[in-house]
Amino acid sequence: MLISAVVGAICSSAGAQSEVQLRIAARRVATGGTEVAVQPYEGGSHWGDRVLPAERFLSDDVEIGRWRYSSPVAVQTLAGEQWVRIAARRVAAGGTEVALQQLGEGVGWGSRMLPTRRFLSDDVETGRWRSSSPLTVSPPPVQFSPPDIGEPPADGEEGTPRGLITPRGVPVAVLGRVGSGYLVRTPCGNTAEVSAGQPIYGAQIVIDPGHGGWWDTGAVGPNGLVERDLNLTLSRAIQEELAARDISAVLARTGSYGSLLSVRAAFADALGADAIVSVHHNAPTGRISGTPGTEVYVQSVSRSEPQADSARLGGLLYEEITTALSAFPNIRWGRHADAGVLRVLLPDGHDAYGMIRRPNVPAVLIEYGFLSNPSEAALFATDGYISVASKATADAIEAYLNTDRLGTGFISRPRVFNPARAPSRCEEVTLE
Ligand SMILES: [Zn+2]
Repeated sequence: MLISAVVGAICSSAGAQSEVQLRIAARRVATGGTEVAVQPYEGGSHWGDRVLPAERFLSDDVEIGRWRYSSPVAVQTLAGEQWVRIAARRVAAGGTEVALQQLGEGVGWGSRMLPTRRFLSDDVETGRWRSSSPLTVSPPPVQFSPPDIGEPPADGEEGTPRGLITPRGVPVAVLGRVGSGYLVRTPCGNTAEVSAGQPIYGAQIVIDPGHGGWWDTGAVGPNGLVERDLNLTLSRAIQEELAARDISAVLARTGSYGSLLSVRAAFADALGADAIVSVHHNAPTGRISGTPGTEVYVQSVSRSEPQADSARLGGLLYEEITTALSAFPNIRWGRHADAGVLRVLLPDGHDAYGMIRRPNVPAVLIEYGFLSNPSEAALFATDGYISVASKATADAIEAYLNTDRLGTGFISRPRVFNPARAPSRCEEVTLE
């Protein structure tokens, strides 16, 4: 059986039965080693089926004391879908210790949660599952493991990270250390002190889900789909696609809250990103066409000259995204005559859009399609769209980072346009 490591200790989650959601199952296997799984609490005295991660076996001859991790697995709980993974390690006294980690939204893996009963002895009956004591899986705030975004400076000490995911999951730029905590730039451009969080030492890509806050929803589709939320859903999927390719990406916004464009741009600059990619869906609809009306806006160095890296990334994004979206059958696409990789300039010759003009790092802004168009809005509400669009975006970013490809779709003549100013309204969110 699983033996309590803390004999006589009072389980801190006792009494919180309605919140108890997961436990770890473990068993000895005939070939030696331990197999692990996770079980969701289903209410009453019911525990759901064991969910088996693809990688779930811990050999007996691994280094003692070092945690190993199962592959991530999605578990349906009373509070909705949670991504978790199981940590396991061999202990010096013999046997295996298990723990659970929860994936926070946009914030990576939380700290290892240790059930009170969490040790599996080696001499238990082979093949029979044993259960840990229950664990409460909670939404953020989350206590974080040691940093796993970017590398700390080589001098050995932690130093000051460039950014931070706060305990509430809000990404912020770090301005300096304050005692054992951090001075950070808030989403609304103020400074605040934060006591803890997941340090970010750098990121290759910053993904900016366009819009945010109740006052800035972006476009709203005829089916009620809100651009602010669609952009975030797609951005998260892009981040996951990039992570699967070992490309570090951080979101500039991780919830429905709003943040200033200047703050988002400065965040990408602070992280020293290779690019910031702003994710949008367009309105109002252009003419109806048989081919996607994707537009990708890129940076200028002068009235006549695009910024080379921004333009190359834009070309790759346009090529991959339009190719991928074209495979969806029977869509009536909105499309402007000059759709493509574009520079949009103010009459004074500067880039018109704040998310293009403000970052010092290479920046692009993608309008994947027209949310105002019923045919496209219906498509954008599907998992198939999120999957295809995120893969195409990641393909382009991967090619930008790892090849010299230039992409296609450049429109040489800039569009001259004075867009509506981004809202200056901003309401701060709780950081911890
Ligand atoms: Zn937008």
